[in-house]
Amino acid sequence: MTDVNYQRLKGTVDILPGEIEVWQKVEKIARDTFNQFGYRGIRTPIFENYNVFARNVGDTSDIVEKQMYDFDDRGGRRLALRPEGTAGTVRAYVENKLFGPEYPKPYKVYYMGPMFRYERPQSGRQRQFTQIGCEALNSESPQIDVEVISEALQFFKQLGINDLKLTVNTLGDKETRDAYHKALIDYLKPYYDQLSDDSKERMYKNPLRVLDSKDETDQKIVANAPSILDSLSDYSAKYFEEVKKLLDKLNIKYEIDSDMVRGLDYYTQTIFEIMSDSDVFGGGYVTVCGGGRYNGLISQLGGPDEGGIGYGIGVERLLLLVQKENPDFTPKYGPDVFFASADDEGDELAFEVLDKIRKNGVSADKNYQDVKVGSQIKEAIRRKPRYYAVIGKKEVEEGKFELSKVDSDQTQTVSVKEFEDNPTKFLS
Ligand code: ATP
Ligand code: MG
Repeated sequence: MTDVNYQRLKGTVDILPGEIEVWQKVEKIARDTFNQFGYRGIRTPIFENYNVFARNVGDTSDIVEKQMYDFDDRGGRRLALRPEGTAGTVRAYVENKLFGPEYPKPYKVYYMGPMFRYERPQSGRQRQFTQIGCEALNSESPQIDVEVISEALQFFKQLGINDLKLTVNTLGDKETRDAYHKALIDYLKPYYDQLSDDSKERMYKNPLRVLDSKDETDQKIVANAPSILDSLSDYSAKYFEEVKKLLDKLNIKYEIDSDMVRGLDYYTQTIFEIMSDSDVFGGGYVTVCGGGRYNGLISQLGGPDEGGIGYGIGVERLLLLVQKENPDFTPKYGPDVFFASADDEGDELAFEVLDKIRKNGVSADKNYQDVKVGSQIKEAIRRKPRYYAVIGKKEVEEGKFELSKVDSDQTQTVSVKEFEDNPTKFLS
């Protein structure tokens, strides 16, 4: 034994065959659903300049202040592993000038990939985790807000998850937040000494963060804080009314949570969360999708003064939910066909047939171990094929074999030649 540590890092996981099939199915359903709504894929780097996430305004959220993996590279550049997908997507949008007249408006993209946050690892909470997200850039229309929400809900529906709660709120425009900041600071001032150190520091920079504090005393203090809904500008009030009206039009049920602020500073106007109280989370509502509008972020990153809206879904948490709420979700079968062989002659033929049918459109495999036919059949069943066949000397001589359907006692005799030429014909 050496004392060198080769173990994977805390808060990271290996996703192995057996589980990967569930991931890939979720990813496929995501792609199909997002395509239906006009979204196309985007892949941005996993690391960016630190400022893409912190920006010169200084983001006061825990995610940016406390949870970022940021470091200096060998060239002395301040970098960060992305903690979320929106900032990098907006950076790419600006840098590639996707706001130009030749591009669709809104510019709708989705991403899926790893995010990094320095957190205390626990069930469904990791340091490298995965998000699937969508962004509709260059849009400022209540219709887009509702489309984005509808799309997220449709994605959950396609995964077989229906029992969800949608909460919405608005953080208003700049006029709203200036007025609300003032009202909130006025309210918080008398409690200043009782606030947590974080909240003391954030109160003047961004008092909204105090509303989102996890500290118990902070939470008691903010319980009676004024509501942002009383500070809405005319534009923001009208905008929010329109969003609610359109949600009603699409029969999307929602609750308004005027205390919701979300975990990043760039949010404006409509914000939302989709929550589940599935047993798999051990009681209470857990957020499985969070998103909102971020008018102002595009210009902060050097682009035009346009709005945008998007959401992110944590895939680890989503998989816990899917597997609990939709037990049939896990793919049941491995390859279409698996060959076991009874002897060397059969094994040779199986090897050739395998190659031909793979080239003719089916997924297939065979046993490669030199074991008795009984063990070969056991192995065949263990691989969960849809069909299997045992090939031996007799089958070689006759030029045909029995193709058995797993999970039923159905078998058919097929000619080797016909099966090689058109395997799908025999695999219903
Ligand atoms: P939470 O309040 O649970 O920490 P958050 O507000 O930090 O969530 P967002 O930044 O809105 O989360 O990210 C959206 C989703 O990403 C979350 O609902 C969650 O499913 C997932 N997520 C966030 N952090 C982690 C993590 N450390 N590990 C796994 N999933 C995560
Ligand atoms: Mg968090």
